[in-house]
Amino acid sequence: MAEPQRIVIIGSGLAGASAAGALRERGYDKGLVLLGREAHQPYELPALSKNVLLGSADGPNRVHEPDFYDSHSVDLRLGVEVTELRLGERVVVDTTGATHSYDRVVLATGSTPRTLPVPGEDLPGLRTLRTVEDSLALRAALAERPRVVVVGAGWIGCEVAAAARSHGADVTVIDPVDLPLRRVLGPVVAKVFHDLHEQNGVHWRLGVGVDGFLPGGVRLADGSEVHGDLVVLGVGAKPNTELAEKAGLALADGGVAVDGALRTSHPDVCAIGDIAAHDHPRYGRRVRVEHWANAKDQGAHVAGTLLGLDEPYTAAPYFFSDQYDLGMEYRGLADPEHDQLVVRGDLDSRDFTAFWLREGRVRAAMNVNQWDDGVALQALTDAQATIPPDQLRSATLSDLA
Ligand SMILES: Cc1cc2nc3c(=O)[nH]c(=O)nc-3n(C[C@H](O)[C@H](O)[C@H](O)COP(=O)(O)OP(=O)(O)OC[C@H]3O[C@@H](n4cnc5c(N)ncnc54)[C@H](O)[C@@H]3O)c2cc1C
Repeated sequence: MAEPQRIVIIGSGLAGASAAGALRERGYDKGLVLLGREAHQPYELPALSKNVLLGSADGPNRVHEPDFYDSHSVDLRLGVEVTELRLGERVVVDTTGATHSYDRVVLATGSTPRTLPVPGEDLPGLRTLRTVEDSLALRAALAERPRVVVVGAGWIGCEVAAAARSHGADVTVIDPVDLPLRRVLGPVVAKVFHDLHEQNGVHWRLGVGVDGFLPGGVRLADGSEVHGDLVVLGVGAKPNTELAEKAGLALADGGVAVDGALRTSHPDVCAIGDIAAHDHPRYGRRVRVEHWANAKDQGAHVAGTLLGLDEPYTAAPYFFSDQYDLGMEYRGLADPEHDQLVVRGDLDSRDFTAFWLREGRVRAAMNVNQWDDGVALQALTDAQATIPPDQLRSATLSDLA
């Protein structure tokens, strides 16, 4: 396949900027355009719900140094929102009507926070968290120590709750599920996070959903109300698939369908990061991952695909979180309600590693406040190793990997 003369990347988040960097690293020296609707140079999102919100960092990490784009001849155009992908003409169109031609295009448009389709959803003052502006505005509001209502006890909701408590705010977290993070971690490990927040002063309203927003709070499905000065939604994110949809690309699993090597249903177009519903060779099914490492690594991988390699992207999902004094990493992909849980260490003191096993094989591992075994855990989950539970509990992990 001839090397493309001009590659256009749509979306200047972590995935898009990583793809641009990797193309140059691989020696691609032709036209490379990175279009992003935000005004800022590409930055990483994790700190927005952690250090930035806590006030211990002024802003998020950049994906590359400020002069990277000029020095690597990446035509970075900020404040440019793409409205159309015309596959037949091989151009993308932006909001000003300008067209950008390409030989290959990469969709890296990320996600938008969901809202709840209930009465009052349009009330001003409901907050979501995706951009640096969202984070700085929320931080300023938290400094006033308001009564905060967090809707959704997933990762973002839990991290916002932790940051709000650190600011001294009164915090109530609401979720229709009976434990925070239960869908990802299952009941036993989710209880650790429940207790962590409770011990840090969070009020829970669990097992009951929000069925309306009010000027000063929310109404719950049981008819009760929770009052607050600030309502923050952490109810998940919706992949930005509009361009792909309009262009007629195949969709799957809420995102854009891509094959093992991250190509969409059209040979000129790849998709990466939050929007990519990837045909994952390791799991034999589609997987769409909304995590930092996936965006970064798929960005690097797609460069090879664009330059003619046909290698599958095989990395297992990886993510991390920090809440109060708890830090954790999770590797792999488990079904926590059905897989066998094996705990090494002590849940109560929040110093442990959890494994999830299916048919005896390690599907996922999560280390909490333990930092020595990352390489071994990666090897065990990558190999989906068959290890007896008693060995996982007590043997030296690097000997097992
Ligand atoms: C607050 C927060 C904290 C997080 N913390 C963690 C964490 O601790 N650990 C972890 O593993 N993951 C975390 N994540 C998830 C992780 O950051 C994302 O999965 C990752 O950033 C996805 O990268 P992306 O490039 O696909 O999308 P994004 O980072 O969303 O980038 C997409 C970019 O494309 C732009 N764009 C969209 N549409 C268009 C268009 N039509 N034209 C031009 N530009 C467009 C968007 O404005 C955006 O800048 C967090 C996410 C958030 C929001």
